Parts: sequence; C-alpha cells; structure tokens
Amino acid sequence: MKNLIILLLLFIVMACATPSQTKQALQEANLNNTSASSTLTITYIANEGVFLQKKDKKVLIDALHEKYRPIYLYPSTKLRLKMEKGLFPFQGVDLVLVSHLHGDHFGASSCARQLKNNPQTTLIGSKQIRDSLQKTSLFSAIQPQIKVATQTEPITIHDIPVKILKIAHVNKYRYGWVQNFGYIVNLDGQKVLHIGDAEVSKEIFAPFQLPKENIEVAVLPIWFLVSSKGKQLVTQYIRPRHIIASHISVGDEKNATRRIKQYFPQAIVFTQSGQKATF
Ligand SMILES: [Zn+2]
Repeated sequence: MKNLIILLLLFIVMACATPSQTKQALQEANLNNTSASSTLTITYIANEGVFLQKKDKKVLIDALHEKYRPIYLYPSTKLRLKMEKGLFPFQGVDLVLVSHLHGDHFGASSCARQLKNNPQTTLIGSKQIRDSLQKTSLFSAIQPQIKVATQTEPITIHDIPVKILKIAHVNKYRYGWVQNFGYIVNLDGQKVLHIGDAEVSKEIFAPFQLPKENIEVAVLPIWFLVSSKGKQLVTQYIRPRHIIASHISVGDEKNATRRIKQYFPQAIVFTQSGQKATF
C-alpha cells in the first residue's frame, strides 16, 4: 500500500511538471491541428501577431517579425520560417496585413521573403511599410503584391472584404510620425478587428461607427483593457462580441491577465505563441 501511494505521488508530480519541451510540442500540435473549417480560428503568433482562418481563407496580421526588444514576444525561428515558406498551416495565405513599421509588428525581410515564396499573398500596409520593403533585395519581385493603405476605406482582395482604418499610433508626441492602420477583416460573415498600436481616443474611434459593423472579435492591445477610460471606449465605440487581449510584455503575463480580467472578465488573453481561440 505504501509503495502504491509513493508511486501515485510520483505520478502526480510527473504529470504536473510541464517541461519546456512539452510546452513546445503542445504549441506545435495546436498549430498543426488546424484544417479547413467553418469555424473562425484565431491563433496567436506573438505580440500583436495573429493568424486568422476560416474555410479556405487565411490572413496573417502583424505576424512576421523578429527579435526587437526583450519585452516583446516574437515568433520562434521555426514558426517564422513556416510562415515565410508557406508551410502547413500557412500555405495559401491570402492576406498579410501590417498595422505599422515598429519592429514588434513588422520585419521587412521576413515579409519580403513571405511574399516571394507565396506569390498568391497580398500585403496591405502603409507607405512607410512599402518604403521599408523597397529597401530589401526582393522588392522588384514582390512589388505587385503590395497594396498601400493611405486612408480609411473598404476594399476587397481575394474575395475577402477588408475595411482599412486610419488610426493614430499611441503617444503622438513620440510616435506622431508613425502611420498606423487598423483592419476589419470579414471572413465569411464574421468580422475581426485589429487596431495595431492605436491611441485610446473617443475622437478617433467614434467616426468609424464600429458598433454598426457588428464585430465578432476585436484583437486589442492591453492598454485598451486596463482602465475605465479604455473600458468605456471599447464598450461604447467598438462593442465587439469577443475580445482578445494582446501586446503583453514578456514576464508580465500573470499580472497583465489579472489587470485585464478586472475590467473585462470574459476577455481571452493571448500570452503564449500557438494559443488558439475559435468563434
Ligand atoms: Zn508601435
């Protein structure tokens, strides 16, 4: 009996331990487990980077970037190479959307390689994004795949209706020069909003009339979700059915989750690359 208890205890200890290898295997299993489905699936890449899938449509937003500063999560080399090479589940990506040129959202070489390897992909980004891509050696080959965002407007590319939203970057005194764009992506009737590093501002969001858009999921940076001002803006001027919290600093995951849950108890908090949510 004593031996049995010891064995049982040993088993529990082993089951509770999650070595990084297991965690990595879990992340990969999560990514690989994605086949064409009629549910909307959103997979976390890193920082504000997400991968949207529904039926045969695939969209990457702010996903292709590399190590920038220690506090920003970035995709592992393996994951980045899969995206760049168009390997499963990233084969046939229709759109790569880029909010702005900061290194925790965008890597010019990485995006250029993805476009070169995936001729069916169209990238949408600001003129600053285009200029950065122009400095890469692949520009002449990928130029036709780039659509420059200049203003708030609806467009449809590869049968995916997208609304481009011109939204100021947070901290205008420091980053007023940065062109930041948000996107409403309509995947077979379900709309996903991504706002990049937007400013928490009623004046900016009110004219978009987002509640009329009937947004299914809003992918928002943490600073929209941890104050009463943010809560008011989200509930009054965005009004999404679901919220995914992103842009959470490395090492602050627990604390950030606690703070977000104070204001938005239902929010899904993305902290681990490979995390998935379905709608
Ligand atoms: Zn930024």
